Amino acid sequence: MRLSKMHLKTLREVPAEAEIPSHILLLRCGMIRKLVSGVYGFMPLGQRSLRKVEEIVRQEMDAAGAQEVLMSAVQPAELWEESGRWYAYGPELWRLKDRNGRDFCLGPTHEEIFTDIARDDISSYRQLPTMLYQIQTKYRDEARPRFGLMRSREFIMKDCYSFDRDDAGLDESYRIMYDAYSKVFTRCGLTFRPVEADSGAIGGSNSHEFTAFSEVGESEIAYCESCDMAATSERAECVDDPATEAELLPMEEVHTPGTKTIEEVADYLGLDKKQTMKALLFAVYDEEGQVKEYVAAFVRGDRDLNMTKLVNALDIPEHAIEFADEEKMGAVTGSVGGFTGPVGLHDCRIVVDSELPGQKNLCAGACKEDHHLLNVNFDRDYKADLITDIKMIKEGDPCPVCGKPIKMTRGIEVGQVFKLGTKYSESMGATYKDENMTDQLIVMGCYGIGITRTLSAVIEQHHDENGIIWPLSVAPYHVIITEIKPGDEAQDKVAEDIYEKLQAAGVEVLLDDRKERPGVKFKDADLIGIPVRITVGRGAADGQVEYKLRRDADKEDISVEEAISRAIEIVEKEGRG
Ligand code: ATP
Ligand code: MG
Repeated sequence: MRLSKMHLKTLREVPAEAEIPSHILLLRCGMIRKLVSGVYGFMPLGQRSLRKVEEIVRQEMDAAGAQEVLMSAVQPAELWEESGRWYAYGPELWRLKDRNGRDFCLGPTHEEIFTDIARDDISSYRQLPTMLYQIQTKYRDEARPRFGLMRSREFIMKDCYSFDRDDAGLDESYRIMYDAYSKVFTRCGLTFRPVEADSGAIGGSNSHEFTAFSEVGESEIAYCESCDMAATSERAECVDDPATEAELLPMEEVHTPGTKTIEEVADYLGLDKKQTMKALLFAVYDEEGQVKEYVAAFVRGDRDLNMTKLVNALDIPEHAIEFADEEKMGAVTGSVGGFTGPVGLHDCRIVVDSELPGQKNLCAGACKEDHHLLNVNFDRDYKADLITDIKMIKEGDPCPVCGKPIKMTRGIEVGQVFKLGTKYSESMGATYKDENMTDQLIVMGCYGIGITRTLSAVIEQHHDENGIIWPLSVAPYHVIITEIKPGDEAQDKVAEDIYEKLQAAGVEVLLDDRKERPGVKFKDADLIGIPVRITVGRGAADGQVEYKLRRDADKEDISVEEAISRAIEIVEKEGRG
């Protein structure tokens, strides 16, 4: 491709709405184009890199034995009602009606569609196992679309579904996909780690996220350096502090004016936060949007609540719970904003973190303005409707596997694999007949890769202050020939010669033949991050060019032939990833 003919608009300035490097660089390189919040189009360079990521994914899915299909983005509500997700998926589900008032959604994922295929097409054990996948556009009306392609409302996903006879079969399909994912992300040039994950709205029992290391990532990972424990913070189990051995002291009400937060009350009373308990108050809504019940969740004062664990313990969708209106909840349950404790609460579900019953003589809100209670003890002073781990792990906590201190880091979730089991085949009736002609439920797995998010993650891990540094495997072009003075006879001849020879060898080449200053050309080449730069300048007359890799600082003057063979060699070696 000749740059003079290319539809390319690069930006010198950092676009105001972009906060993170991948978003800034995708816009500055003219790779993507924003239409509305969370909705982007792909321009020529962007489309090329996108297709590279897709192709790597496609090759690894095919190699894993999955077969490619393509389903519609438009999905009828009936299928989602069958699975129970028309309600459970909540406001992220992009809903629409046709002219006759029939409900549809734009698929955020395709479990229902593929379970429907399975129940129609699979009848015998002889057809199992089987795996289907697609690379297709997904829609999620995200509450906070941000960071460009990282969290958008329209995005491209590879989703794959496995169908097996039993759990052992699913284990094998899961292992195959897990390995394929490791190959995909390695080939894309990512440094990543598979971590245990919560299965969220998809459901099922067992799940891993593939997380690309990055400070801007939205996934928080707890990991252990002494053993191989690694999990998202939502998922990571916490070890309860051992029960304290202490005599139960008499409960006592104390005046604590204006101490609404744990910090304030602990300071005021001269207590360690570990001697206090924290209340978090929620309203749970039914399908009509009416308050179904109030929930008071309690964790020790030095802990944070883990919302995912709470929602799982309550067995409700995430969107069905919100912080309660303090006044409304108070009128029903006796809670008092900032001064709520478990003693004296009524008509609300009390969920207590598993650590609290063992902790003696705690300070808690008195359910009375400006008052707290000292020496509050489980069982004697308060009961719980549910006692379970609802706390968030933090750096330094003991590892749930080996007990050594936990480390925390951040990452970008680029893919996730789930063991669905029979969640969908049961609700939607997808069965096969075994050898004895008995009906059995199909056992399913599902496996997603965010294609567009992966592209962002690659940029997050591969850039510097001048622009992107593409790994060869996903670069829009492998080589850029920067001609210093187009129109100069010797330079034109050498540039064209290299251009043709490289293309003939299957190398993807950009020829910067624009009548621009060399500085502008070098800046653009660095910005768009083409891995190999061959500069054709004054030396052209003597058959010399400059060879430089975007990732290295060194430049070298070498012969035209040498430059061509080096470029071919590096593409052969790294072009596939
Ligand atoms: P997240 O927790 O980031 O919202 P998710 O767990 O809901 O993601 P999955 O349902 O597992 O996402 O979807 C599979 C993959 O699709 C994710 O691993 C991610 O790479 C990608 N993905 C999900 N949501 C988005 C989005 N809004 N924008 C871009 N990619 C996304
Ligand atoms: Mg996920």
